[in-house]
Amino acid sequence: MGILKSQDHELLSLLQGAFAIRRHHFGMGVSLHVIRNAKSGDCPEDCAYCSQAGKAEADIPKYNLQSVETIVEGAREAATLKAMRYCIVTSGRKPSVADIEVICEAARRIKREIPIQLCTSLGLLTADQARTLKAAGVDRYNHNLETSESHYGAICSTHAYSDRVATTRTVKASGLELCCGGLIGMGESLEDRASLALSLRDVGADSIPLNFLDPRPGTALAGLTRISATDALRALSLFRFANPDRELRVAGGREACLGSLQVLALYPANSIFTTGYLTTGGQGHSTDIAMIQSAGFHVSEITDA
Ligand code: SF4
Repeated sequence: MGILKSQDHELLSLLQGAFAIRRHHFGMGVSLHVIRNAKSGDCPEDCAYCSQAGKAEADIPKYNLQSVETIVEGAREAATLKAMRYCIVTSGRKPSVADIEVICEAARRIKREIPIQLCTSLGLLTADQARTLKAAGVDRYNHNLETSESHYGAICSTHAYSDRVATTRTVKASGLELCCGGLIGMGESLEDRASLALSLRDVGADSIPLNFLDPRPGTALAGLTRISATDALRALSLFRFANPDRELRVAGGREACLGSLQVLALYPANSIFTTGYLTTGGQGHSTDIAMIQSAGFHVSEITDA
């Protein structure tokens, strides 16, 4: 808790401590991820932060699952940007049989044709579905805890925190890598943030995307204020201390919350999404590369994975 309550004049010392750990495990590399919103909107769940929730009145594109060809083409574009990982995401509580068939066909083609690691994020998952995805060549599965167990009921009523934990266990048991992170700035306490950092360690997250709420018009959390850049950096440092050798991604809300301090996030974190997020844009790939290089970091090669 001392970390999250530290003073502004202590921030550089905090980042230096987090950087020493990050550099020990990951050197100066930054892994790039490209996210593909393969099925957007009209979700029956009611996650309060999400523009794709059925109850949200956000102005976003809504479409059914994209074709195998479109998903594969996205992976090809991601590889040209030197992305280490391509993340296929679908809205919804859980994938249908047809969804799994399309995603697996796309995965088989991507793994045959394109040098890129593959992650999918399709909602709550059964053991059979996890094994099927792994057999198709998927490397990793994303399912975030989002917040602490005690705060979860305040942001979602259609599924429980325990459902999310169950899916993380299913993923680990299947042999898929687990990508599991959260979203801060949803009205949670500092204790909730610290609890999330430790819960991610407990579920064995291999990769941790840490998102910062950029309240979207039309969502239940639209009235909240973004957290400060310095609080975002404190949180990233804490998540690095709690999960020293795990990939830590400064994820959604990077540009909006960190602003001119954005590059400092690379001292605790070793990974970013480039080309934007599910329903919002980013600062652009070339600006991301310039930012990485400006502080002496470099883009990690897929051979580093
Ligand atoms: S399950 Fe996923 S897509 Fe659906 S409302 Fe929640 S976060 Fe959004």
